[in-house]
Amino acid sequence: MFDILIIGAGVTGCSIAKRLGQYKGKMAVLDLADDVSQGASKANSGIVHAGYDAKPGTQKARLNVKGAGMMKDLCESLGVPYGQPGALVLGFHEEDRQTLEALYQSSLINEVPGCRLIDRDEVLRLEPNVNKDVLCALDVPTSGLVSPYELTHALADSAKENGVDFLLNHEVKALEYQDGAWLVHTSKGVLKTRAVINCAGTFAGVLHNQISTRKVKIIPRRGQYYLLDRMQPLLFTRTLFQVPTKMGKGVLVSPTTHGNLLLGPTAEDIEDGFDTATTAEGLDDILDKVRLTYPEVSLRQVITTFSGIRAHETGGDFIIGAVEGAPEGAFEAIGIESPGLSAAPAIGEELGDWVAYSLGLEKNPNHIPPTPLPKPFSAMSEKERRAAYENDPDYGRIVCRCEQVTEAEIRQAIRRPQGARTLDGVKRRTRAGMGRCQSGFCSTRVMQILSEELGLPLDMITKSGQGSELIVGQIGEKNDE
Ligand SMILES: Cc1cc2nc3c(=O)[nH]c(=O)nc-3n(C[C@H](O)[C@H](O)[C@H](O)COP(=O)(O)OP(=O)(O)OC[C@H]3O[C@@H](n4cnc5c(N)ncnc54)[C@H](O)[C@@H]3O)c2cc1C
Repeated sequence: MFDILIIGAGVTGCSIAKRLGQYKGKMAVLDLADDVSQGASKANSGIVHAGYDAKPGTQKARLNVKGAGMMKDLCESLGVPYGQPGALVLGFHEEDRQTLEALYQSSLINEVPGCRLIDRDEVLRLEPNVNKDVLCALDVPTSGLVSPYELTHALADSAKENGVDFLLNHEVKALEYQDGAWLVHTSKGVLKTRAVINCAGTFAGVLHNQISTRKVKIIPRRGQYYLLDRMQPLLFTRTLFQVPTKMGKGVLVSPTTHGNLLLGPTAEDIEDGFDTATTAEGLDDILDKVRLTYPEVSLRQVITTFSGIRAHETGGDFIIGAVEGAPEGAFEAIGIESPGLSAAPAIGEELGDWVAYSLGLEKNPNHIPPTPLPKPFSAMSEKERRAAYENDPDYGRIVCRCEQVTEAEIRQAIRRPQGARTLDGVKRRTRAGMGRCQSGFCSTRVMQILSEELGLPLDMITKSGQGSELIVGQIGEKNDE
C-alpha cells in the first residue's frame, strides 16, 4: 500500500515528487516511458517565461510568475544550467503596437518587473542582427532560460535520494476507487495507494475523465523545432518572440542555456498525444516565420530537428488540486501547457504540500537537500580540469568530442540516484551526443561504458528503451543464418 502515487515523470510530476521527499511516506512516480522526462519536458523552448502574457487572474499567470521567481535558486541548488538574458517581443506591423501595449498592461497586472515598450532604434541597439524592418518591441528583462530535461532529471534525483521510488515502464491504464483506497491499474499490475496525483501530460485528460464529474478535453498541440549548431557565433543574446497568436506564443528565435540557437515551435493540433514526428510542412512553416525575425537564417547550421507536444486544455487554464467530484485522495496537475516549465517549481511546492497535508504526513527529519551537479568538464578552467583529473583519471578521456564530455561524467550520469540506462539517457544528462555529429562518433564508446556500469551485454544496450537495441547480433551469426 502506497501513501502517494504520482502518474507522470515530467517536470510537473518530478517537482511534486521532490517536494514530497520532504515528508515521510511510501511514494512512487509511475511513467510509461523508460526514463524520466520523456514527454513535453524534454522537448520545449526552455524559456523561463516572465509571465507578462498569461491572462491575469488565472492559475497560469499566478503560478508562472511565482515559479519563474523560484527558478534561479532552484537551479543553483541542483546545479542545473540557468540564465536570464531577457526577451524581446518584436512588432513588425502597425497593428502589433496595440498587442504589445496589451501585453505591457498585463505585465503590470501580473506584477512582472521591468517590462517596457521600446522603439526600433533601441531594439536594434540591443539586438543588431534583428530584421531592420522591426517597428517596436516589448522588452522583458526578467525572461530566463533553463535546460528543461536537466532540470527534470535533477528533480528526480533529489526525490529518489529522499525515498521516492520511480517505477518506469509502467503504463497507467485506469484509476478505480475501492474500499477507501485507489487502485492504479498499470501494464505491470495493480498498485494500491491512499492518494494519486495525475500529471500524465497529454494523457491526463483520459485518467481525469474516468474519475471526475467535470469532464475536460485535452488537445495534443505539437511544436516542431530546428536546433542550430552552437559552433556558429551566437547572433542574438535574448529570446526573440513575435507577437502571440490565438495558438500560443508564436515562433521564437532563442539561445539555449548551452549556446545553441533554437528556432520554432509550430502549433499544430493533432490526434495522437505521443506523435513527436517532424514534418516537411512544419519545418518549412518555421523557416517562413523565423525569416521575419532573422532574414539571413541558414539551414547549413541546423544539427537536428525535434518536436514536443503541449497538453492544451480547452478551458485554457491549468487545472490543479483535488479532482472535482472524485472520491478523496485524487489530485491532479493537468492541462500543463506553456508556461508549465516556468511554473513547475511553484506547482511542485503547492500541490506537494497540499497532498501531504491532506494525508497528514509528517515532515521527514532525515531529508537530504540536493547536492548540486558537478560543473561540466567543458565549462571548467584548466586548473579545475587538472584537479578533476587528479581526483578521477576518467576525466582524462574525452568521449564526446563535439561537446567535450569525459568518461568520468558519463559514469557519474549512470551512477546518479535516478541514473541513465540508455544512450539517450546519457545524452540528456551529460550532452554526449548532443553536438554537431549527433553521436556518430561517441555512441559506441558510450554503449561500452553503459555495458560495463550496468553489467549488461552490449546487445542489451538500447538507444531509448526496449525495442531500440543498437546491436542485433554478430556478423558471423548473421552469415550462418
Ligand atoms: C513545443 C513546446 C514548447 C514549450 N515551451 C515552453 C517554454 O518555453 N517555457 C515553459 O514554461 N513551458 C513550455 N512548454 C510547456 C512545458 O514543456 C510543459 O508545460 C511541461 O513540460 C509539462 O510537464 P508535465 O510533467 O506536466 O508533462 P510531460 O513532460 O509531458 O510529462 C507527462 C509524463 O506522463 C507520462 N505518461 C503519459 N501517459 C501515461 C500513462 N498512461 N501512464 C504512465 N505515464 C504516462 C509521459 O510519459 C510523460 O513522461 C512548452 C511545451 C511544448 C510542447
